[in-house]
Amino acid sequence: MSISSFHPPQRILMGPGPSDVNPRILEAMSRPTIGHLDPMFVSLMDEVKTLLQETFLTKNKLTMPISAPGSAGMETCFVNLIEPGETVIVCQNGVFGMRMIENVERCGATAIVVEEAWGSPVDPNKLEEALKAHPEASTVAFVHAETSTGAISDAKTLVQIAHDYDCLTIVDAVTSLAGSELRVDDWNIDAIYSGTQKCLSCVPGISPVSFSEAAINKIQNRNTKVQSWFMDLNLVMGYWGEGSQRSYHHTAPINALYAFHESLVILQEEGLENSWARHKRNHQALKAGIEAMGLGFFVDEAYRLPQLNAVTLPEGIDEAAVRQQLLSRYNLEIGAGLGSMAGKIWRIGLMGYASSQQNVLTCLGALDAVLTNMNAKIDSGKAVTAALKEFD
Ligand SMILES: *Cc1c(COP(=O)(O)O)cnc(C)c1O
Repeated sequence: MSISSFHPPQRILMGPGPSDVNPRILEAMSRPTIGHLDPMFVSLMDEVKTLLQETFLTKNKLTMPISAPGSAGMETCFVNLIEPGETVIVCQNGVFGMRMIENVERCGATAIVVEEAWGSPVDPNKLEEALKAHPEASTVAFVHAETSTGAISDAKTLVQIAHDYDCLTIVDAVTSLAGSELRVDDWNIDAIYSGTQKCLSCVPGISPVSFSEAAINKIQNRNTKVQSWFMDLNLVMGYWGEGSQRSYHHTAPINALYAFHESLVILQEEGLENSWARHKRNHQALKAGIEAMGLGFFVDEAYRLPQLNAVTLPEGIDEAAVRQQLLSRYNLEIGAGLGSMAGKIWRIGLMGYASSQQNVLTCLGALDAVLTNMNAKIDSGKAVTAALKEFD
């Protein structure tokens, strides 16, 4: 048997990520590969840094993309900021908070967990209690937008409380960046990481990060070496740092960075706040349709992420079969529940380029038809009209 070229189908990606990639970004990615120290490439790197600062709303000099997915951005923050023996407070209200605990422990530090029910935001009072009980804590970590549940936490307040107790902060903004309000400098966030494949609608495999002066100070004054050679920012800075004296650290994913650059240019054209508003508008229309169908949301309205909709299931249906039909008949991907939410919710993503009126209407129409065909207990035939009314 001979294996030939791979031609993926044209899907509509409305799960928890990756989201639909804007064709402009795919086109940018296919441009000629040049050297990773080519002066033309170095100027692209500088533009990426500038655009990224504008996206994070920060003046932080150490703002750049890590050459690996969001999980590597997470790990970069932890391995650089945490030293063995330290105490780190991790607020955990879903799958990604659990991963933070794992990162802390692998750094040889102790994680104090502030636990919250899945679907709820992190409770600032509980964080404050933990900080009072653990004056030795050096750092507070939490997820801004928990993609496993669809809940957003009040990052500004959590960071402020952490600073009141002299802790640095690590914030997961993988799903929030470009989809929800996020202000790195105004909120005084010390270390933040995101991903390219959620609301930036870029190809997966890059993780933007940013570090405050206080964070850099800590990294430069560590007692121990960062245990990861690849992620040691003291070394990565030699390549991504200031000026034209760039030295080889690793070969940057050149074409993926063309794509990332394009995604940031597209966001700049739209305007960051317009992007937040678009995500909200499309969520409102999806919500109108979901509710008209008689289905509900897992998360309280006040804490609901517009870009990740955790929808409760109609009674007695095989949720995996519904997703399978959406994929095979409509080329439409929605997400299943993750971790303890498996089999309990669907996760409908409206992220980046996928957050469009067309996708909202397509998804509602498809879901309505597939569920009706399965004799599910829903109010059939109302969802799309409800969404159209909301758009009007
Ligand atoms: C997707 C996601 C990650 C991991 O990003 P990858 O690019 O899949 O490694 C981390 N945190 C949150 C909140 C996410 O949604």
